[in-house]
Amino acid sequence: MYFCCRRDRLEKDFAELAQFGSLENGGFTRVAYSLEDLAARGWLQEKMEDAGLQVVVDAVGNIRGQRPGQEDLPPVMLGSHLDTVPEGGNYDGSVGILAALEIIRVLNDREQVTKRPIEVVNFSAEESSRFGVATIGSKALTGKLDLKTLKSLTDSDGFTLYDTLRESGYHPENIQYSSLSRENVHAFLELHIEQGPVLEEKECPIGLVSSIAAPTRFNVVISGRSDHSGNTPMAMRKDALVGASELVLGVENIATEAAGKDTVATVGYLKVSPGVMNVVPGRVELGIDIRDISCSDKNKAVKAVTELMTQIAAKRGLDISWKKLCDDTPVELSKRIMTSLETVAKQNNMSFIKMPSGAGHDAMNMASITDVGMIFVPSVGGVSHNIKEYSRMEDICIGAKLLLDATVRLAEE
Ligand SMILES: [Zn+2]
Repeated sequence: MYFCCRRDRLEKDFAELAQFGSLENGGFTRVAYSLEDLAARGWLQEKMEDAGLQVVVDAVGNIRGQRPGQEDLPPVMLGSHLDTVPEGGNYDGSVGILAALEIIRVLNDREQVTKRPIEVVNFSAEESSRFGVATIGSKALTGKLDLKTLKSLTDSDGFTLYDTLRESGYHPENIQYSSLSRENVHAFLELHIEQGPVLEEKECPIGLVSSIAAPTRFNVVISGRSDHSGNTPMAMRKDALVGASELVLGVENIATEAAGKDTVATVGYLKVSPGVMNVVPGRVELGIDIRDISCSDKNKAVKAVTELMTQIAAKRGLDISWKKLCDDTPVELSKRIMTSLETVAKQNNMSFIKMPSGAGHDAMNMASITDVGMIFVPSVGGVSHNIKEYSRMEDICIGAKLLLDATVRLAEE
């Protein structure tokens, strides 16, 4: 009998995972290290153990489960994440984890032992919603996080990442023992939803990711002076919100006109103080997110944005200070793995396109220590980070089949 990925098993997994963090409006909130996220991890760990994986949990809570190979060689790793943004969906990240789990079960059904071990990893805190920094788990696994950073990152309630990890039952003090290097991993594959409209538009079930854009992010504080909105003449104001408004439009203009063709930039939040009708706003805090697949184009945009902030401050007599929250490097994924994925897709008569990823993923960190491939499946309506996020099970199954065959191929190398 020929064993392949089973749709019924995958559907059951998605339904079970949906217990954790589901909202009345149809969305999901499993913010990193929240009770919902921790419960989902517990569920996953049990599933991984049921599938026979040897599971270890590292200092930041990454759940790693290995299926031994015939030889004691570096494994092929498959991974993604279970955490979500607030009011997100049940597909971003989960697709890659549940498909990886299904692949292990298919190999068990086949009683197939690959030459290399295969490892499934659920990365912690992929979404930046809580600590302002994305892909915390894969950063830790690739040696990009240290104890000092764990103690300096805080959430909006003032909890440090370090304390959050301790409270979640992990051992952040062991962070230095949680990283892998090039000789520990043979290859890494991630299956993920596209989170954009391109595949649906092209009626194509598979996207093979050639490169991943990376963000540079700023938290900006604009300080002016709060004044009476009736008694302060226009020429004598230091209105932080009009300065912020000029910055918002300027950021849009820089991304559209001045930087590269793929540059995108967003001001995602504005907090206006005191935020009342009859007071000239004295303080605005805002967040700028700039992304590109080209490092030089991104740097160009970053330079233009910082120059703009200096100009606005001088022109309007405001004080503008900013803190760089992250400055990640865009990555080109492995050509060798791309060739492998293309070969496997053709063998399966799957149509595919090659495309860049505008969103960051754990795969980009893994690319610093191993050869990485990434597969996209369509997002209905291009919608993600939204309660309406949805991917069709038939598309997920096509992606899982590609991931299965590509994994086996790499695990026999
Ligand atoms: Zn994701």
